[in-house]
Amino acid sequence: MRFNNELVLHNVFYAYPEAEKEALRGVSLNIRRGEAVGLVGPSGAGKTTLVNLIIGLLDPSSGEITVDGTSVGRHAQSWQQTVGYVPQEINLLDDTLERNVSFTFAGEASVDDRVADAISLAQLDDVIDGLPDGIKTVLGERGTRLSGGQRQRIAIARALYNDQLIVFDEATSALDNESESEVAHAIQNLTGSKTLLIVSHRLSTIRHCDRIFYLENGEVSDIGNFDELYNRHAPFRELVELGNLHVPGDDQAAQ
Ligand code: ADP
Ligand code: MG
Repeated sequence: MRFNNELVLHNVFYAYPEAEKEALRGVSLNIRRGEAVGLVGPSGAGKTTLVNLIIGLLDPSSGEITVDGTSVGRHAQSWQQTVGYVPQEINLLDDTLERNVSFTFAGEASVDDRVADAISLAQLDDVIDGLPDGIKTVLGERGTRLSGGQRQRIAIARALYNDQLIVFDEATSALDNESESEVAHAIQNLTGSKTLLIVSHRLSTIRHCDRIFYLENGEVSDIGNFDELYNRHAPFRELVELGNLHVPGDDQAAQ
């Protein structure tokens, strides 16, 4: 499945089996190729559910999700192979850094180029220069230990390797402030060239998104850029002002 123009959700509802009320109610939105979209809202609003629908892990109870006009539901496997997902914490394989990024047997020139590109985009070149065997360094349980921020940048490189849409679900929330800025910076470096869907509570991570979707009680209550939402959408402004979207110092560090 190709994603050349636009991913569209049309009036999507989702209810978990046996749940009393729907987790998502009538969500309509689009994500254009090349844009960075932030997804914010209170805990329990339905952000992770929405992400799982978009990446094809859940099917809508009703409504439709299409990519360039083709329904995701019927092609979920093919779609999933093209989506890179950055979770809250990466599971590292007990293997080399390059295998941790690509999962495929490295050594072929074509694979090496793609691994090198993903590593540079994730701003890992400096990290690799400091490792004893470069990209052949073994990571994981019995290998070199990396910091939290370095591990999340490996997660980003892994997601970039499969590339059409990169989804971050609270990808920086387990990090301390300093590592968070490193990773936020790596994410910001991708804006403009990759299509990004970013679920985050951290201001520095969503501040530069082209558009932000505000989700409340399973519904999208507003869509706009940071300044627009801050000026007109009280729940968003409250999230920012309560500090739930702000970590002091990050904003500057992430520039
Ligand atoms: P968020 O990511 O915004 O915190 P979620 O998408 O995880 O929100 O959850 C949305 C709603 O769906 C919540 O009310 C949550 O309790 C419910 N929910 C999430 N996962 C499940 C599940 N596996 N089974 C039943 N209900 C769930
Ligand atoms: Mg969630």
